[in-house]
Amino acid sequence: LPVALYTEDEIVLAVRRGEITPYFQPQVDIDTGEIVAAEALSRWLHPDVGVLLPAAYVPTAESGGSIVDIDRRMLALSCRYAREWSRRDATIEFSVNVSASRVAAGGLEADVLACLAINGVAPELLTIELTESQALSEVDGAPDVLAALIAHGVGVSVDDYGAGHADEALLDRIPATELKIDRSLLEHDDPAGAADAARLAHERGLRLVAEGVSTHEQWALARRLGCHRAQGFLFSEPVSPRDFLKMLPSSR
Ligand code: C2E
Ligand code: CA
Ligand code: CA
Repeated sequence: LPVALYTEDEIVLAVRRGEITPYFQPQVDIDTGEIVAAEALSRWLHPDVGVLLPAAYVPTAESGGSIVDIDRRMLALSCRYAREWSRRDATIEFSVNVSASRVAAGGLEADVLACLAINGVAPELLTIELTESQALSEVDGAPDVLAALIAHGVGVSVDDYGAGHADEALLDRIPATELKIDRSLLEHDDPAGAADAARLAHERGLRLVAEGVSTHEQWALARRLGCHRAQGFLFSEPVSPRDFLKMLPSSR
């Protein structure tokens, strides 16, 4: 059984202390292999035990509500890093995970626009990844908020597509610009499921991203399916902002 390692109270404190912070995993152009974007993934830099993965705190944070603060902080910090990258003449798009609770809490549109403006980052560089799209589709007003963000130029991605909870009917309710094929489809070699997702994305004119690409075979499959971008251990695991900077073209 999964054990809740940390309590909601401990997570709330960690967020306040600034211990929860983004790592970045590169997304590469499927044809050239060049880094074109990065997904911000949270890490808890715990003073006693070191770097903690989301599995140790995100489930508790989602049920307890502190995920809202985590998402807010991840957005603010990611925009700051994006400004840093553009100062180095590296045009890198970035995506930030947004939970259903964050959308339900309200103010997402204003918050996103403010974070971008403060840092002088173009809305077109940011994509919001919807981590719990099924729960999100039940949040009042969510489609309007997402449509407004898209109208501003921000991307909206349906994460974990094909994982079971995200399906075609969902795409009718949630405005999106991108679809991320869940890594289980590539890992368990479910070419039919992956092809379904790809067909849908192409029909709807959505950008298609393959995640969890960890072998050359999976990369080849993603190419055959017409994915635009790929992300996974084959290219890089999520790394600290400092290490990510070293991977960018202008710093090579
Ligand atoms: P996700 O959004 O689907 O993120 C992708 C996860 O797959 C990451 O796990 C990443 O490290 C992992 N991954 C990347 N490439 C590969 C690969 O080639 N093979 C395998 N097996 N795994 C790969 P991570 O960082 O542990 O994050 C887990 C989940 O926690 C995320 O899944 C996301 O749902 C959630 N999460 C992380 N940060 C945040 C956040 O700031 N806000 C919210 N709401 N959720 C977050
Ligand atoms: Ca994600
Ligand atoms: Ca995912």
